[in-house]
Amino acid sequence: MARRILFLGPPGAGKGTQAQLLADAIGIPHISSGAMLREAVADGTELGKKAESIMAAGDLVPDDLVVAMIEERLAKDDARAGYILDGFPRNVVQAKALQAALGDDAIDAMLLFDVGEDELVDRLLGRAEEGRADDAEETIRRRFDVYRGETEPLIEAYADRVIAVDGTGSVDEVFDRVQGALG
Ligand code: ADP
Repeated sequence: MARRILFLGPPGAGKGTQAQLLADAIGIPHISSGAMLREAVADGTELGKKAESIMAAGDLVPDDLVVAMIEERLAKDDARAGYILDGFPRNVVQAKALQAALGDDAIDAMLLFDVGEDELVDRLLGRAEEGRADDAEETIRRRFDVYRGETEPLIEAYADRVIAVDGTGSVDEVFDRVQGALG
């Protein structure tokens, strides 16, 4: 089974939830760039101070900062047996940096989560009530634009290892599909 897995999909597709379930099931770390950045903001680190307003606007944090953060994380012992990358790489520059650091087998499978846009917006607006700062309506729109412009081109870059997963339905239904997709 693939053990260096990238989860890709639009904001609200449920990647984070599914990545955590799979990571727990197979015993490899779930590495979420968004969660790491939110933690840096909460801790008030130098990185967090630089990232905060950018994230609140729905834009991408500069590549050099995110690449350094993820490379440091991937160098830890627990990532040696595999990892689930969630939110990184998010554009072609980051994918190239990952390849330069770890080679072409840095990712052996990419799960692409497919959910219709109306459902995504409903899910994100629902989550806004739970208090995530970047889930306000204009920010959501900006995050979709960034996804289409910057992140979707990665589908092409990893076309030889992509597995599409229908992301609609309950968490359990989607997780069954995730496990099925990876065999
Ligand atoms: P989602 O994909 O649901 O919008 P994430 O938790 O993955 O949410 O990311 C939240 C925010 O964190 C992004 O909108 C962006 O500002 C920042 N971010 C996360 N990952 C990256 C990355 N790889 N490069 C640049 N910015 C990132």
